[in-house]
Amino acid sequence: MKDKVVNSKLNSGMNIKSFIIIALAAFWSFSLAAQPYSVVIKGGHIIDPANQLNGVMDIAIQGRKIVKIAKNIDTKVAGRIIQAKGLYVTPGLLDIHTHHFNGTKSGNEYANGTLSLPADAFSFRNGVTTVVDAGSSGWRNFPLFKSQTIDQSKTRVLAFLNIVGEGMRTAYEQELKDMDPVASARMAKQYSEFIVGIKLAHYIGHNWTPTDRAVEAAKLAGGLPVMVDFGMSRPALSLEELFLKHLRSGDIFTHCFGQLDGRESIMNLTTKKIKPFVWEARKKGILFDVGHGSISFAFSQAIPAAKDGFFPDVISTDLHAGSVNYAMKDLLTTMAKFMAIGMDLKSVIKATTVNAAKAIRRKELGNLSKGSEADIAIFSIRKGDFGLFDHVGYPVKIDKKLECELTLRAGRVVYDLNGIGGRTRW
Ligand SMILES: [Zn+2]
Repeated sequence: MKDKVVNSKLNSGMNIKSFIIIALAAFWSFSLAAQPYSVVIKGGHIIDPANQLNGVMDIAIQGRKIVKIAKNIDTKVAGRIIQAKGLYVTPGLLDIHTHHFNGTKSGNEYANGTLSLPADAFSFRNGVTTVVDAGSSGWRNFPLFKSQTIDQSKTRVLAFLNIVGEGMRTAYEQELKDMDPVASARMAKQYSEFIVGIKLAHYIGHNWTPTDRAVEAAKLAGGLPVMVDFGMSRPALSLEELFLKHLRSGDIFTHCFGQLDGRESIMNLTTKKIKPFVWEARKKGILFDVGHGSISFAFSQAIPAAKDGFFPDVISTDLHAGSVNYAMKDLLTTMAKFMAIGMDLKSVIKATTVNAAKAIRRKELGNLSKGSEADIAIFSIRKGDFGLFDHVGYPVKIDKKLECELTLRAGRVVYDLNGIGGRTRW
């Protein structure tokens, strides 16, 4: 009876739907006006290549999201003020080649083994807020990787699914019978929130079957990119054939500056020029990713490439237990290597934000757009006398490098080197 009375009253002026919409809008605008910013980052030099921002501005955050970027945001309504004067403020970095399927299974290497490392211990201190595990797991063990690593990490952990069912388990990546495009695609679709592509790595046979199965899986999964670590086939397979016949636009060639036995390099070492088919591949849309790793980055490749005007699309680490304590160390050290050979600050930020996000087709990441999740990194430039080297010990000296001061993940301070994060007022 009561319901009837209410309905008849509403029908006389407006229908129920309009009433609810107006009421919600009124409540929403009232709460926005009343609610302060949870964080304001004040006076930093913003570099956001996705939005062509390069200058001093403030950023306001409310909860998990960026709500405003402007010249002078009022801090009276801010819960926390982060003073960033003299510092660089960028989108949280993406590292699209890492290994995080950390576990205790003896002899398993990267797949639930000790060569993979916990994400949070290595990401935030480098300004990294998103990592993409590059094929440590496959269609047989991805659910374990998800429960063991993705679900346990504050870092956003995404993944390239290995075309081999058991991922990067010792010497297992040669098992053609376990490279199942249909099962891989099914897993990628089931976990599409986390799986951003298909990975092929370390294959030593002299045939194209693994490459073609990885591409097939990526197609069946709805058009994902493939990331290829081209292994060490004996004799080496043709890179020209890989780029121009087997891979598609948007597929990713990682370890692009590697100089390895058993794998052709992109550089003609006699002429010190990038091979012509590599330029053709870039024009086709093949993406070139650093994937530094233990032995997969050589200045003997990168320096002449830079002189020839060839720089990577994406800078990534190939972070694992073997690379973090050797020449690679971390993403900021890897970025410093490219700054040392000719990329400017904006370019290395672009290669670790918007370019990396595009490569994994997650355009909502790697930017400081209003409405984006507030994944933000703040850096200082540290001056001094620093040395870099590659896996054969080739030395390069630099006098400045990026140091991560503070990292926010989804609006929360998750790393603060020198306590610049202020304190919450309530
Ligand atoms: Zn790797």
